[in-house]
Amino acid sequence: MPDAAAPAGGTGGLRRCRLRIRGQVQGVGFRPHVFALAESRRLSGWVTNDGEGVLAEVQGRGVADFVSALVDQAPPLARIDAVEVDDCVPTDEAGGFAILDSDRAGAVATEVPPDAPVCPDCLAELFDPADRRYRYPFLTCTHCGPRFSITRALPYDRPQTSMAGFALCESCAREYRDPADRRFHAQPVACPACGPHLSTPVEEILARLRAGAIVALKGLGGFHLVCDARDPAAVGRLRHAKQRDGKPFAVMVAGLASARTIAEIDAAEAAVLSGLERPVVLLRKSAGAAGLAGAVAPGLPWLGVMLPYTPLHYLLFHEAAGRPAGTAWLDRPQCLALVMTSANPGGEPLVRDGAEAAERLAGIADAIVDHDRPIVVRSDDGVARVVAGKPLAIRRARGAVPRPVRLPQPVPPVLAVGAQMKVTACLTRGADAFLSQHIGDLDDAPTLDFFEEAVAHLIRLVGRAPVLVAHDRHPDLASTRFAEGLGVATLAVQHHHAHIAAVAAEHGHDGPLLGLALDGVGYGDDGTAWGGELLRVDGAAYCRLGHLGALALPGGDVAASQPWRMAAAALHRLGRGAEIAPRLSQHGPAAALADLLDRGVRCPPTTSAGRLFDAAAGLLGVCAVSGYEAEAAMQLEGLVRAPRALPGGWSIDDEGVLDLSVLLDALIDRDPADGADLFHGTLVAALVDWSARAAEACGLDRVALAGGCLINKVLAEGLVDGLEARGLRPLTARAVPPNDGGLSLGQAWIAGQVAQDRSDCGVD
Ligand code: ZN
Ligand code: ZN
Ligand code: FE
Repeated sequence: MPDAAAPAGGTGGLRRCRLRIRGQVQGVGFRPHVFALAESRRLSGWVTNDGEGVLAEVQGRGVADFVSALVDQAPPLARIDAVEVDDCVPTDEAGGFAILDSDRAGAVATEVPPDAPVCPDCLAELFDPADRRYRYPFLTCTHCGPRFSITRALPYDRPQTSMAGFALCESCAREYRDPADRRFHAQPVACPACGPHLSTPVEEILARLRAGAIVALKGLGGFHLVCDARDPAAVGRLRHAKQRDGKPFAVMVAGLASARTIAEIDAAEAAVLSGLERPVVLLRKSAGAAGLAGAVAPGLPWLGVMLPYTPLHYLLFHEAAGRPAGTAWLDRPQCLALVMTSANPGGEPLVRDGAEAAERLAGIADAIVDHDRPIVVRSDDGVARVVAGKPLAIRRARGAVPRPVRLPQPVPPVLAVGAQMKVTACLTRGADAFLSQHIGDLDDAPTLDFFEEAVAHLIRLVGRAPVLVAHDRHPDLASTRFAEGLGVATLAVQHHHAHIAAVAAEHGHDGPLLGLALDGVGYGDDGTAWGGELLRVDGAAYCRLGHLGALALPGGDVAASQPWRMAAAALHRLGRGAEIAPRLSQHGPAAALADLLDRGVRCPPTTSAGRLFDAAAGLLGVCAVSGYEAEAAMQLEGLVRAPRALPGGWSIDDEGVLDLSVLLDALIDRDPADGADLFHGTLVAALVDWSARAAEACGLDRVALAGGCLINKVLAEGLVDGLEARGLRPLTARAVPPNDGGLSLGQAWIAGQVAQDRSDCGVD
């Protein structure tokens, strides 16, 4: 919450105050908001933008009320970090309130807002046959529309956006200049007379979709591939074309009422679905989901659902509904459901323009729908899930970027570059940490180019040159080489230290705490693959208090996508190596693998929690080979009904090693659903026991939970409940993903503290 320091003294007297408002207060309609409030309360004075945010002077009676209203009724896209109020001497100038022109030199907008979904007022215009923007796919106002994805540089002004090429018509210009208008200083304002146009009429797009076509549709941050989610042939063709073995597709429906026909949605989930970020939300399928093609989300009880966020999305549903007037139809279930998946062939970055779409999507898309408003910055859809009653980001992208995360302390400007998977970058300015959009896995040249482009854009928008660049300790990553090539001092940060620091940073926690990192694999200080770690973290320092009992990775990295290999490693560990070949030969060269395990050849050890999930899934026969990352763990979680702990299922030795061999042994030959209950329940109980013992030994009560496994709702909620029951205070990731998508924040927070210490000591 902002610290709104109300002026002291009575509320009735005549006062004059100078207000400084900090945060995301430019480009969001804040000055008209101040203007309207002041006018309605008969206050005199002025308001303006400057290099620090919004500055105002108000005079009259009831100034304290005015200040509270300023905060309570702030425009939808505003984010108020602080309101500073200073009393000054009242003047006897005549009344009236004015919006002053910003002083150009100092008026550099401090932030670009994230892209926002169509607001209720614009939606009403979109479906009002009498409005001049009726069915106009690019309508927007001060409270909604594209921002980050169309902005080249600061200040955030029309000439710096991809709307620069569209001259305002007389009507739009009038709205733009009128402080009483919703479009006052709305940079992307446009209408059918002066704005961008779609290459294909909406009715034709819908007709193609209904005829089973796969349509490449230009959106806010890139193209989507779209098809009718109820058409098995179309979804099957899309799946085949994207070579996406079983990885769930997201589905877009018209509104909440429609979403409730295919998924179970509680209040918290409804809020995330229809909130400003409009991410894809993982929801439990309801019986109605059977009406969707089976290939949308095969074999999982969850469905990724998203509501429309651009006018074009809404128009597709409007067309399908028979073009009703008004917006009431959105509150009734609509039949149309669309698969909306990123047009990123081969896992490479999103397609962003029509020519590129024609080239890269040839053979996938049956039709390409383009428009003439260029996408400046590519950005994927965000992905979220509700865990323990609150939203958890799984992928932080469109809708959330570039809103900063507040660090516990201001630090010198540092850049952090993540690791290898789900990479994001992070740049700090004071106590604000700006994360880039989700970039992807840095294992092809186009993604690496996109990463470099995103870092350059971040530096341009944030306006700071880093004094220190943090990267993962792994020496062979593309991100590490990129960091080392920047010609700035670098800092190697251990992977799980960064995971824990990210959660601490997000919670503003400054000081020692325990960290439980449950992850895929990350490079350990001893060069081995860590991933189930209990750490004591204190700022830029940490120590490893313990780890999961190691399993072999038979055959090396390939084991990460073949859970049956982890099952073999578990059998070997349990002294049941002779059973590997008879039990697992149908999945691959099990006998040869047993031999490798016996000889300890090409079997590097790992303490990864993700691989422990794979071993459990493999032993239970739930998933032998993963078609996509974490498939086995998701399948296993999907089977859980009532988790229960196996008494004596774990042990903890003097070195702090948590051994779950007894649990793994108990999974063999067990019914998969029963095994999923036993695995989750025992793992949670063991991790709570382990953390509680360490907390007591260290005299700490805060435990940060991080790593990709925390996406698992059963695990995350079990840990939170279990730790709280032991009197501990768990901290979980929220706005920043617990997986590698949040690493850059943790790296930046650690590097920021190191840079601060160095500057305190006079070292540069
Ligand atoms: Zn609007
Ligand atoms: Zn116009
Ligand atoms: Fe990780």
